[in-house]
Amino acid sequence: MTFSIHGLAVARGIAIGRAVLVASSRVDVAHYFIDPLHVESEIDRVRFGRNAVVDEIHRLQTSVAHMGTKEAAHELGALLDVHLMLLQDEELIGGVKHWITERLYNAEWALTTQLEIIARQFDEMEDEYLRERKADLEQITEKVLRAMKGVGSAVVTVPERSERRRPQQDVLLDDTVDVPLVLIAHDLSPSDMLQFKQSVFGGFVTDVGGKTSHTAIVARSMDIPAVVGARTCSQLIRQDDWVIIDGDAGVVIVDPSPIILAEYGFKQRQRELERGRLSRLLHTPALTMDGQKVDLLANIEMPEDAVGAVKSGAVGVGLFRSEFLFMGRNGSLPDEEEQYQAYRRAIEGMQGLPVTIRTVDIGADKPLNKSARDDAHLNPALGLRAIRWSLADPAMFLTQLRAILRAAAHGQVGLLIPMLVHASEIRQTIGLIVQARAELDRRGIVYGPVKLGAMIEIPAAALTLKIFLKYFDFLSIGTNDLIQYTLAIDRADESVAHLYDPLHPAVLRLVADTIAECDAQGKSVSVCGEMAGDVEMTRLLLGMGLRSFSMHPAQILAVKQEVLRADTGRLREWASAVMQDEDPGRRMGRT
Ligand code: PEP
Ligand code: MG
Repeated sequence: MTFSIHGLAVARGIAIGRAVLVASSRVDVAHYFIDPLHVESEIDRVRFGRNAVVDEIHRLQTSVAHMGTKEAAHELGALLDVHLMLLQDEELIGGVKHWITERLYNAEWALTTQLEIIARQFDEMEDEYLRERKADLEQITEKVLRAMKGVGSAVVTVPERSERRRPQQDVLLDDTVDVPLVLIAHDLSPSDMLQFKQSVFGGFVTDVGGKTSHTAIVARSMDIPAVVGARTCSQLIRQDDWVIIDGDAGVVIVDPSPIILAEYGFKQRQRELERGRLSRLLHTPALTMDGQKVDLLANIEMPEDAVGAVKSGAVGVGLFRSEFLFMGRNGSLPDEEEQYQAYRRAIEGMQGLPVTIRTVDIGADKPLNKSARDDAHLNPALGLRAIRWSLADPAMFLTQLRAILRAAAHGQVGLLIPMLVHASEIRQTIGLIVQARAELDRRGIVYGPVKLGAMIEIPAAALTLKIFLKYFDFLSIGTNDLIQYTLAIDRADESVAHLYDPLHPAVLRLVADTIAECDAQGKSVSVCGEMAGDVEMTRLLLGMGLRSFSMHPAQILAVKQEVLRADTGRLREWASAVMQDEDPGRRMGRT
């Protein structure tokens, strides 16, 4: 039966495919397709893992018999029997074989997929004792996964997503291995999301998350349809269900009827046509109708994204979120050499165009490691985050500064500092930059000049711009956090997402004043929050005087189209009227 689930639209487009449910705890399991020739060896890997765990249980059974009191031995023995029974369960084995043979999933993916299916059956059981056996099933799966680690897969094939996108008509008819897949999860951390960047999935849906949460930002940078904050989607959707993700409307349609499929197939084709039309603007300079030059820059997460940025027509990188190099590494931070090589790759990838590297912005919804989220402080967004985290560990920060300075010898580099608010933090940061240069001098290592920039993302910073303009060459407005901190709305919390409003008059005032103050002082300013890539905001930002926008590469041509149609002389007056309105959103036609 067809039904729909509503969430928040975060990445545009339509994806139609089969659901792959991934438990949050298992997203780090590899997901790839195997070569059909290796089906048997992949099944053998699971068999090997399972046999290793069965042997281990048998060994334990022998030792348990001679252990502790009779009752304890009996209880433990019974538990081990349950584990053995689950391991030999036909549904588990048969299911795993099915996913490997029919869908060419790698062994780990097949195992966790089947685990999800059986776990759900346990959830639905009336009997409490049986319901609790789900935890045992998870434990033994974990053990099998660990045992399989020693046996590598024969061949890893990760097809490009585009190769797997198929025309809508075929979807109805064809049910073989070559169908698009969409990922459904309760929650994904930004680093999980990054892991899926080169993956097989054509769309994402999560139960939780806000529009400008970092998970949503990475989804958007992948340029595939995504919906977050879809509440119970991971419970309502079953493994292998057909699903439509409407990333424009923020809707997920499950088990669509042929009529609905046909309608969305049409929408998909319309979107492809629109993309084709926009691609003609690739080499057109971003000039407004009245001849104002506008810089359209890219936001990137990894050095490899630079290639895509150039291909999308970006004239530089306005924000390289360096923290993605630090995340998901179980606490082992990248050393100076590794960071230097990464920044250098990004700079060289941009082929002479400028690159702004932001120092690490760890904390809040970007924990170093996933487990860190559990012991996070009560208000992590107000806690030890971004520059505060860096200043709390000067040795780590100096390592990053030296790496960026060294990379700056290879191109035009901006060094951008996140979340500054106090003059003392500014002075301390600048002191450490001076120290990093002195250390490189002492070691006789070459480094290059950098332009120094600060992010304006805390209202207090926007209200004390004179201090910032005294110390920095340029400013970059981080509207994602500026909105969060101005309106006291957690950007990652879907339950207050309706109050997260870029058009609140207070937000507009802070953004407009920052642009005007920089203009007056002759300093450059850009917006690098999600507002910069939102085509509905382009005219307003141009009217406020903004001439530098940094966004996901996928948005650049759509924003360029708005720029080409704009007359900044007219927009100035209109923007000031919008800002005077008590409800700018209504005035701009947003409901
Ligand atoms: C912002 O806050 O607008 C920004 C660009 O930084 P991030 O989204 O990484 O916090
Ligand atoms: Mg920010």
